[in-house]
Amino acid sequence: MKITRVETFAVPPRWLLCRVETDDGVVGWGEPMVEGRAATVRTAVHELAELLVGRDPLRIEDHWQTMTKGSFYRGGPVLSSAVAGLDQALWDIAGKVYGAPVYQLLGGPVRDRVRAYTWVGGDEPTQIAEAVREQVEAGFTAVKMNASGRMNRLATTRDIDEVVSRAAAAREALGDDRDFAVDFHGRFTVANAIKVLPHLAPFNPLFVEEPLLPEYTHRLRDLVAASPVPLATGERLYSRTDVLPALTAGVAVVQPDLSHAGGISEVRRIAALAETFDVLLAPHCPLGPVSLAASLQVAFTTPNFLIQEQSIGIHYNVGAGPLDYLVDTTPLRFHDGHLPRTAAPGLGIDVDEKAVRAADNTVADWHNPLWRHTDGSFAEW
Ligand SMILES: [Mg+2]
Repeated sequence: MKITRVETFAVPPRWLLCRVETDDGVVGWGEPMVEGRAATVRTAVHELAELLVGRDPLRIEDHWQTMTKGSFYRGGPVLSSAVAGLDQALWDIAGKVYGAPVYQLLGGPVRDRVRAYTWVGGDEPTQIAEAVREQVEAGFTAVKMNASGRMNRLATTRDIDEVVSRAAAAREALGDDRDFAVDFHGRFTVANAIKVLPHLAPFNPLFVEEPLLPEYTHRLRDLVAASPVPLATGERLYSRTDVLPALTAGVAVVQPDLSHAGGISEVRRIAALAETFDVLLAPHCPLGPVSLAASLQVAFTTPNFLIQEQSIGIHYNVGAGPLDYLVDTTPLRFHDGHLPRTAAPGLGIDVDEKAVRAADNTVADWHNPLWRHTDGSFAEW
């Protein structure tokens, strides 16, 4: 059995899918994407595909080693995301060849369903209580929201009041049996995070995410010491070695992205590494159906899994959503805020190839907003 072809599709709202074909007719799908860099990752995927075409798709680990280490310059978001999507597609092929879901190939299920959270409030969170109530009515048991919009380098009293009032509104709408997480989104300086974190403690957030930018991970230990609430990070970390300093700094939750951090192969290893620190896994996933399906396969077989992000209904999804590219949407339909475990082979979804081909190249590349402080200087989004 040989890989014969690798194709990529840039589809709305802002995703890149890859399709890996074999001479046996088995096809695997992946989602090699880093948000805002679809065209760059697409090029990287086709460069890496040269290592795969003509080879046995079932030698996944060997391909992973070659793709990640086969060139002198390696790592980082673009290359790790390209590897991630191809890795997902290879696991999809393997599952289809062996007639088993990927979670079965990884050791079998440890849970029957996966708890997921949904986003509320958008980039500039407003009317949190109403948004949370809608999600509670839809059956979700957890939500996540941005702590703030553009954030001053050191919070004013009003900035702090706004962060606190959103947390209070979320807690009130959720009651005592549901959770909310807060995303600082790398918008806070270290000193600012130390200032604001204690104010969130009375509302018992599940975790606070990206309390600092990944380039300042050497300061994470200071934040852990100062924070009365669990800290999470990892959507901008791309490998075990990237995640290790966050683990040694004492985070409670790591959030590797199945489409950024080397795919199923590497994220399951990150999960195992995190387990040695008694740290939980909450994979980042604001992307499309293949990325979410890959996340679920890992979640079903990972003992230290906490909760799954997903993008159905998220503010970034303008014009299309994850369900638009599936023949059968059942595997990604929520029941009481959870996604079901099915026995379908591979990634467990049936990608609508016709819809994907029709959507290819129909939208311009998405780019994140560029924000400015009131003095005109650059502000973190
Ligand atoms: Mg985040």
